[in-house]
Order: sequence, then structure tokens, then C-alpha cells
Amino acid sequence: MLSNIRVVLVGTSHPGNIGSVARAMKTMGLSNLYLAEPRCEPDGQSVALAAGACDILKSLKTVDSMEEAIKDCSLVIATSARSRTLDWPMLDPRQAGEKMAAESASGQVAIVFGRENHGLNNEELQRCNYHLFIPANPEYSSLNLAQAVQLVCYETRMAWLAGQEQEADVVEYPSNEDHERFFTHLEQTLTRTGFIIKNHPGQVMTKLRRLFTKARIESQEMNILRGILTSVDKKVGDDK
Ligand code: SAH
Repeated sequence: MLSNIRVVLVGTSHPGNIGSVARAMKTMGLSNLYLAEPRCEPDGQSVALAAGACDILKSLKTVDSMEEAIKDCSLVIATSARSRTLDWPMLDPRQAGEKMAAESASGQVAIVFGRENHGLNNEELQRCNYHLFIPANPEYSSLNLAQAVQLVCYETRMAWLAGQEQEADVVEYPSNEDHERFFTHLEQTLTRTGFIIKNHPGQVMTKLRRLFTKARIESQEMNILRGILTSVDKKVGDDK
């Protein structure tokens, strides 16, 4: 999913920022960097500031315009150091992170950052689905480019991690019908082994039912139990 998210820098003029952006991205697990009409080339300063993220510098794509960098993206979010310059749908970094993490599951997503000296122009801003403003100090709201990238990539990572956790937490439980099938199978097998005496079954099945119900068996665990019963059935054969 994170591989479907790209960072687009428009008109960047400081090579050091490009290196710092690469580092900011890599620490958060993002790797696709686009430079749209850059006003400098990555140089030794970029490499020094990228530190262990030089691979991102090596694989970055340079294109002539922002349009070119986002043309195959289904979600494009522009960042701006000024809130509400245009009356456009706004997101804060957390909301943007959630949206990017969610939509990157099914399409390409771009997060666009502007020039160090004057950000993105209105035409560029209007090409994007949403605007993101980091609600900074109103008296001084302009972050360094790479620090803005860091913050947005962090929120994206947090949203992505939360999604992963939810996925990992999803436990499947067998249906009521599957439970009944299991109890029937258990009773048949225990009858075949002689543990349950057909004409005098007693309370065994009720007690076992309670035991397995209390255990809140998961689907995978029930499959294992069914497998065990089948293996016992095979050993016991038809001679019972
Ligand atoms: N002087 C410029 C600021 C550019 S800062 C201006 O007034 O627009 C360089 C880039 O960093 C911005 O284009 C934006 O992409 C990002 N950035 C900096 N501060 C930000 C903030 N508070 N919210 C969102 N993006 C920000």
C-alpha cells in the first residue's frame, strides 16, 4: 500500500531539502519521490542529508510538470503553508494520512509539496482533490519543506499501521452451524472409540459442549479439532 503513495516536490530549489525529504520518506516507509520542474539537481549536499536514504535519491523521477507527476493518480493532496487561500476541501495531516492509507489500497496516491519560497500556485492547487494545511502557529506557519514532508509521511504511516493492526486483529469464529457439525463429529468419534457408550451417554456431551463453548474456539482452531477427529476416525476404522 505505501508503495502506491508518491511524494511530489514542485519547483524545489535547495538540494539539501531533496536529501532531507528522501530521509523523511524512508524513515516512514515511503519510497516514490518525484521532482516536478525542479530548480536544482540532487548533489553532494542531497546525498549527505539523505544519509541512509540514498536509494530514494537514485530512484527518484524527474518530470517537467506537476501535471506529469500526478497524471495516473486517483487521489491527489496538495499541501499549503497557508490555510484557506482557496475555498477547497481541506484536510488536516491526520485526516490526510487516513485517506491516503485507505485509498492507496486501490489506486495511486500523490501528496504534493510546493516551492520553498512561494509554495504551489493557484492553478496547481486547483488540480488537487484536497488541500492539506498543518495547523501550525498562525504567526509563523511555514515549515521547512522536508519537515512538512516528515509530518505528513508520519501520519500516513500511523494510519497504515492502524489498518494493519485491525487486519491482524480480525479473528474468524465458526458459525453456529459449524459448531453443531463439530459436536456431532465429536460425539460420533467418541462413540466409535468407545469413550461414549451409545445406550448410556450420560452428561459427557453436555460437558464437552460447555467446555468448547467457553473456549470460544476460532475457525482455524476448529479446523484443527476436526482434523484430529478425522485422524482418530481413520485409525479406529470401521470395526467399531
Ligand atoms: N512561503 C511559502 C511556504 C512554502 S514552504 C508559502 O507561503 O506558501 C514549502 C512547502 O512546505 C509548502 O509549499 C508546503 O508544501 C509545505 N508546508 C510548509 N508549511 C506547511 C504547513 N503549515 N502546512 C502544509 N504544508 C506546509
